Amino acid sequence: MIPKSHPRYLSLMTRELIVEGVRNGITSTQGLIAQGRGEAFDYLIGEKSTDSALAAEKIAAAQLLLAKRPVISVNGNVAALVPAEIIKLGEIVNAPLEVNLFHRTEDRVDKIIKHLHSLGARNLCVKSDALIPGIDHERAKVDSDGILRADVVLVPLEDGDRCKALVDMGKTVIAIDLNPLSRTAQCATVTIVDNIIRAVPNISKFAGELKGLRKEELRKTVRGYDNKETLCNAIYEIKMNFESFSCQSLYIPPII
Ligand code: ATP
Ligand code: MG
Repeated sequence: MIPKSHPRYLSLMTRELIVEGVRNGITSTQGLIAQGRGEAFDYLIGEKSTDSALAAEKIAAAQLLLAKRPVISVNGNVAALVPAEIIKLGEIVNAPLEVNLFHRTEDRVDKIIKHLHSLGARNLCVKSDALIPGIDHERAKVDSDGILRADVVLVPLEDGDRCKALVDMGKTVIAIDLNPLSRTAQCATVTIVDNIIRAVPNISKFAGELKGLRKEELRKTVRGYDNKETLCNAIYEIKMNFESFSCQSLYIPPII
């Protein structure tokens, strides 16, 4: 039991959720390592939604609302960390959820679908009858009425290869990735450098605010968006946060 007073309470509780996801057969063991890589970047970011992340989250919300056929991709880490929040986002932007796994097994796909259903998900793409071109077979499987036909896909924690393949298909790809240097972050159309536990509720909040706008106003919001600038800003924010840890602020116990 982690006490609430622990300085890393939220981070440790998030870790517990991932461990539970592995125990329940929802998350892959590789998902644990992915979470660890993310945690390291979150530390450098300062474990908060930075200005560049918030700006990208607003663009993501507008893109999802503008989409004709938006789809939200769900993997084992997303299903363990933010299942209720991702269902809520899907409802706000009217996008189905599609389970899409890098280390795919039909058993894990079924478990995630059941998990999402049990939490109230109604709009799910459950077929695996199509393939993403240029990707090897198991990792390429998608729903012909879901990701295959989607114009905008939200991929929280996507692999770099698949992200590129989706972009090459002409889709607007929104990635959530704490590492601004990953191939996923570098090749997505919109990259949100933030933890999914903060990013998903933030996108929902922006979507709720933007929902009343006319299409033309939404288009104005996304016009001129430059993802390279977002990534540069995210890297700059990490650099500034890093520099703020000056030697003076480090606690070094005296030698006795
Ligand atoms: P790429 O193949 O795109 O270069 P990678 O090999 O670094 O990426 P993977 O290990 O395939 O990445 O996937 C994990 C990615 O997900 C990491 O970049 C990590 O920073 C990110 N990540 C892990 N946990 C979270 C989280 N909770 N929120 C946001 N991003 C996360
Ligand atoms: Mg990778």
